Amino acid sequence: MKRVYNFSAGPSILPEPVLQKAAAQMLDYEGSGQSVMEMSHRSKEFESIIQSAESLLREVMNIPDNYKVLFLQGGASSQFSMVPMNLMTKNGKADFVLTGQWATKAHKEAARYGEANVVASSKDKTFSYIPELDPSTFTKDADYFHICLNNTIYGTKYTKLPDTGNVPLVADVSSCILSEPIDVSKFGLLYAGAQKNMGPAGLTVVIIREDLVGEPMEKTPTMFDYRTHVENNSLYNTPPCYAIYICKLVLEWVKNDMGGLENMKKHNEKKAGILYDFLDQSKLFQGTVVPKDRSLMNVPFITGNEELDAKFVKEAVAKDFVNLKGHRSVGGMRASIYNAMPIEGVEKLVDFMSAFEKNN
Ligand SMILES: *Cc1c(COP(=O)(O)O)cnc(C)c1O
Repeated sequence: MKRVYNFSAGPSILPEPVLQKAAAQMLDYEGSGQSVMEMSHRSKEFESIIQSAESLLREVMNIPDNYKVLFLQGGASSQFSMVPMNLMTKNGKADFVLTGQWATKAHKEAARYGEANVVASSKDKTFSYIPELDPSTFTKDADYFHICLNNTIYGTKYTKLPDTGNVPLVADVSSCILSEPIDVSKFGLLYAGAQKNMGPAGLTVVIIREDLVGEPMEKTPTMFDYRTHVENNSLYNTPPCYAIYICKLVLEWVKNDMGGLENMKKHNEKKAGILYDFLDQSKLFQGTVVPKDRSLMNVPFITGNEELDAKFVKEAVAKDFVNLKGHRSVGGMRASIYNAMPIEGVEKLVDFMSAFEKNN
């Protein structure tokens, strides 16, 4: 059997113990004589899986009791419309900070439903930094304020949250959830596609403060109404059962093997530090993000020469370092080093980059 070092931005690497456990339980989940893929979502076995997934997520992320946890489908992209349909309902306005492609898509979609104001953008420098935010420019009566906490494509992350006062802060946390502790109480709503740091594609997690679960816009599809999923504990219709099961195994791994989010953060800082330290002293490679806003999860870098970039990506694949090509919109390289990437994977990558630098 061969396992590569997978630097994919998503779907991405999963912890090996999780895959092994899933393999061991593939044909017979805990004596049920069935795979989790074959089970009724109304069975007591599956009910126990979804309940464990929720209680583990609450424990690991320290989610306060006045928040609901939802296991949905449709990806983070569906939340770009589900959030405005449900939240942009009082004054019909929301604020947005454009820090990359996903934040821009969230804004564009919300603009179909109401007044979507851009309070700041870092587009002028290819989204290589997080803009300074001035609360006096925020819309006082906005229904919410939207940010993308970690920008997967450009490799930036917020180190300080905007002070939005009473306006609920909504964040896309697809590529940083579970990477370090988040103070959930500072947010009205958090959402994440699971395929970066929580499990396989197909599952979207929403964490919503209870008082924000209200009357959505008229004609909102039943499936896009948060109340539907709150009232039915994410079992209104068939949920993404197998993805929820893998997410539960990932949460067990975060809690038991990695020691929770404080330790996960230390582990991730150490791992990212190895790569950033190398980039900072390299004469060939350079990081593309201003150092203070660097992501712990996604590390874009370039040589400054497109042909050399392509050569690097090609030679990397031959050495089993895969998915290092940058996003099609920016080029260069990007190493996504999510929770499941072992420190050893980054050390080996740096050794390889160092050898490439000597030869080129
Ligand atoms: C991957 C990603 C998305 C898109 O997620 P889908 O689940 O494919 O819709 C949105 N936002 C961020 C920050 C992402 O990393």
